[in-house]
Amino acid sequence: MNYNRTFNFSAGPAMMPEPVLEEIRDEMMNYRGSGMCVMEMSHRSKVFQQIIDEAEQDLRELMGIPDNYKVLFIQGGATLQFSMIPMNLMKNGKAVYIETGAWSKKAITEAKKVGEVVVAASSKDKNYTYIPDCSDLEIPEDTDYVYICENETIHGVTWNKLPNTKGHVLVSDQSSMFLSKPCNVSDYGMIYAGVQKNVGPAGMVVVIIREDLIRDDLTQLPIYLQYKTHADAGSMYNTPNCWAIYCCGKVFKYLKSIGGLEVMHQRNIDKAKVMYDFLDSSRMFTGTVEPEFRSLMNIPFVTESKELDAEVVAATKAAGYDNLKGHKSVGGLRASVYNAMPKEGVEALVEFLKKFEAEHTA
Ligand SMILES: *Cc1c(COP(=O)(O)O)cnc(C)c1O
Repeated sequence: MNYNRTFNFSAGPAMMPEPVLEEIRDEMMNYRGSGMCVMEMSHRSKVFQQIIDEAEQDLRELMGIPDNYKVLFIQGGATLQFSMIPMNLMKNGKAVYIETGAWSKKAITEAKKVGEVVVAASSKDKNYTYIPDCSDLEIPEDTDYVYICENETIHGVTWNKLPNTKGHVLVSDQSSMFLSKPCNVSDYGMIYAGVQKNVGPAGMVVVIIREDLIRDDLTQLPIYLQYKTHADAGSMYNTPNCWAIYCCGKVFKYLKSIGGLEVMHQRNIDKAKVMYDFLDSSRMFTGTVEPEFRSLMNIPFVTESKELDAEVVAATKAAGYDNLKGHKSVGGLRASVYNAMPKEGVEALVEFLKKFEAEHTA
């Protein structure tokens, strides 16, 4: 069906799979005979319990999450995790952070309020256009964890190989690449992702945390900020974001139905290639990231001037390709091509940019 929808290249909130939106529409007025919408439903009802249980189970199957990891649905977005992580995981009061762009920087700022932060590697010297070599870092013995942002949404860089943590716990912000490719959960102590980038509606974060990292000696910490609270209550210590849990659950089922994360990954590779091949052949547009570290999800690029950048943004918007303006901190343009962006969307954008280039170069 044609809904006259735009190809939305927003970095988040972002597109969701159309079949999922259609299912949600169909269940809006009366969810499976319950007589109500999920938005109106008690989180203590049997119907909702089944929704949250299935969402967790489907996510576990999709990612192959081992039994000794808890899956938590917490409010406050990914941003609250910048604080909850050091508050809960700093036992010795020390953690290693790798600085690769805007989001890891924010996490560092918050962690410093809680304990000692060792920035063991940074790509600041080249304006965060690559991932530093982290195969042999100096990691203090008493480090509680090593923290990375696995895909920097604003700078468009991604980790192809996880850092060598020398046996320490790895914590990863996967917000803008969650479920974009297979993930070996046991390589991590904790993974978290704000869902509005690659999964569902805003206002929730998925936390996948190894059970032994959940502490019960943090009684001085506000109860809502303890992972234990959320783990013990099955993510329902208070009213959870029922709507986001419901929508995300549908996306998990959708991903299973297309064949899982291997299939999704291949599609993402094919899709991003369309854009990168164009950037590499264009004389007007240039990708800003070193090829080896290019994100499959967020593709920043520039023209020779700010004026031309702005002109392209306006022209694409008028043509039905929305949200291509780069983040205000870096400028230029950025195409976010998350799981739900169809390949046709990227192909159409590239055709448009090619035409723009032809018309604007003599
Ligand atoms: C968007 C984003 C965040 C912040 O997410 P909120 O849900 O808005 O708090 C954190 N980390 C990364 C990598 C992001 O892309």
